[in-house]
Amino acid sequence: MGHDAIQFPVLRCSGCGRAQLSGRIVCRFCGGTNLQEDSLPPEAVLETYTRIRVPPVEFVEQAPYVVLVARMGEGVRVTGRLLGDQEAELPIGAPLQFVRRDEIAAWFAPVQESATAVGQAGDEDVMQPC
Ligand SMILES: [Zn+2]
Repeated sequence: MGHDAIQFPVLRCSGCGRAQLSGRIVCRFCGGTNLQEDSLPPEAVLETYTRIRVPPVEFVEQAPYVVLVARMGEGVRVTGRLLGDQEAELPIGAPLQFVRRDEIAAWFAPVQESATAVGQAGDEDVMQPC
């Protein structure tokens, strides 16, 4: 998928060095005004979400859909939308991947658990000896 090339755009304050969402002219941390374009890796963690079943009229054809808050690197929080199954169970803290940004939202996809996670305690699919 070439996801290594995807970066999440942010602004970085040259006064305090902290990253924050673009669209600002003043640093939210120190009030500095020298904000430079930068980017963060696409990895994120699901912080919270809401499943919208009765949306604003312009999104009515998309319902139900998930509006989520993703926590990116350096603690940057992004309100975005979920790609894929909008009815899926979403554990808080689940890994997400930033995919793209368009005129609607920043879009995040759930990251599939890797094979290394199989066989953890609580795995119900382990075959039992008879
Ligand atoms: Zn600053």
